[in-house]
Amino acid sequence: MRKKGRNFNFFVITCLIIACLFLFSSLIFSGEVPRKETSSPPSDGQEKIEESKKEEEPDKESPGNLPAAEQNENPKLFPSRGKEVQFKWDDVLLEKISFLQSPIPGAQVTSRDSQLPGAPRPYRNGIHEGLDYYSGSCGITINFGDPVFAAGPGIVYRIDHDYLEPDMKERDEILKICKERKDTPEDILDKLRGRQIWLTHPYGVITRYAHLNEVAAHLQEGDLVEAGDFIGTIGNSGTSDGAGGNTLNPHLHFEIWISGSYPGEGLSPREIRELWKRVLEN
Ligand SMILES: [Zn+2]
Repeated sequence: MRKKGRNFNFFVITCLIIACLFLFSSLIFSGEVPRKETSSPPSDGQEKIEESKKEEEPDKESPGNLPAAEQNENPKLFPSRGKEVQFKWDDVLLEKISFLQSPIPGAQVTSRDSQLPGAPRPYRNGIHEGLDYYSGSCGITINFGDPVFAAGPGIVYRIDHDYLEPDMKERDEILKICKERKDTPEDILDKLRGRQIWLTHPYGVITRYAHLNEVAAHLQEGDLVEAGDFIGTIGNSGTSDGAGGNTLNPHLHFEIWISGSYPGEGLSPREIRELWKRVLEN
């Protein structure tokens, strides 16, 4: 009888253990109890993390985050020198300035590299930005007071009727600034070009005529000019001779600009000369 009772107790305990095991396993597979606490973060939490990562990334569509190249679509007409060249010169660009002609009839593009655009100018820690027409290197004689003509049809953008020549003291002071800063600030470069006329032309082309002795008295800003119209006379304003009050070394400094660069910017002197000859001597 006692043995039967022990067996019965053993049977009941075994049944209870099996029932407990069954109940425990059913809870696990229903996903109600421990799994919730020990599993990885819920899916909505993961999305929030992903969203916060997106917010930290720059919005490439936003105008404030345009790549530098796109922000530079409208470069200044006359950028400070020393910046990267905006583009490489090719036949398409050459075609756009092909309407221009020499501002001095019969004069050729200089035979001297030092008178080409891109030539170094150590005295002001800068780079020459135009073409110089001097006696002895352009095929004809250049005299103080000789006429200068518009290189193409255009509009007078600037004409220095009220130019005042700096004296030697002022000139020495601005050149000292160039030496200290190791470049030529734009306002100083403008003074060193002396008396000037600027013309705007088709395709956004701009021409500048510098070191003039006189500008045409009848012309004002906004006036239309045709190619070959008289616009001023050759001088030496803005140079050391101009500051010294003499008429030595007269020459025309002539610049062409398109999209913020001069023809051949970044090329060799030989290539620049060839390019300017193709434009002005055909
Ligand atoms: Zn020059």
